Amino acid sequence: MTTQKKSPIGAHVPVAGGLGTGGLKYAAEIGAEAVQVFVSNPRGWAQAAGKPAEDARLREGGLPVYVHAPYLVNFGSPNPETLAKSLESVTHALARGREIGALGVVVHTGSAVTQSYELAMAQIHETLLPVLAGLPDDAPSLLLEPMAGQGAMLCATVDQLGPYFDALEHHPKLGVCLDTCHAFAAGHDLAADKGVEECLDLLVATVGEGRLRLVHANDSMDVCGSKKDRHENIGKGHIGAEAFGRLLGHPSVAGVPFIIETPGRSAEPHKADVEELKRLRDQD
Ligand SMILES: [Zn+2]
Repeated sequence: MTTQKKSPIGAHVPVAGGLGTGGLKYAAEIGAEAVQVFVSNPRGWAQAAGKPAEDARLREGGLPVYVHAPYLVNFGSPNPETLAKSLESVTHALARGREIGALGVVVHTGSAVTQSYELAMAQIHETLLPVLAGLPDDAPSLLLEPMAGQGAMLCATVDQLGPYFDALEHHPKLGVCLDTCHAFAAGHDLAADKGVEECLDLLVATVGEGRLRLVHANDSMDVCGSKKDRHENIGKGHIGAEAFGRLLGHPSVAGVPFIIETPGRSAEPHKADVEELKRLRDQD
């Protein structure tokens, strides 16, 4: 019997029809209790201005809101143009996030590509710390999302968040978004008996309590340690439903929203994933 604060279960929602109107309509259709949105093209650098009425609708919609920064963002990149655009893009996402009342902006932890790990981390300190330092109190948190571990990724396993937090001086606006598919791909065997516990205990030992602020709940098409980032619907992959049940009952995730980013071109599979996570959360 668990008495801990329940995690809202939600989804990354499409925003066709408007950030507030379209996003909340989809959320209602699938039973989402939290939403994540893109505020600009996720595969480009172009920044989009908000529509005040839509922003207000989302802000007043009653659901916790998160923003996912574009995929191209990489603060570890040796390419000065990519670095400059990453900075502009994340600054924009944080400003837009504040306008829509978002609690966090998710950013991939990135890759050193061809430069050294040390240079990449120094660059993160120089570029990203001033962004955090300039955030007003009511701005969203910046949530670092560790990756699946391919190539020169700066952070895949949760212990690798340690140097990242050091580089950003453990700023209070810094948090973590744990993607279960990425963690599993990086080698955290969430499907093993004590896998969830070990991963979360290591995360808390590395960055401290209160830093895990969002979970991307995705099952995995590939086996543990594959370094492949291919999301699967909840309970249909190698992580399995039981692991999500254990995750939802762990004290470190009390009240932390879960967002699915699972496959499906219609609302049906997303609705099923949200329902399955709610069932796992509410069991006992
Ligand atoms: Zn994710």
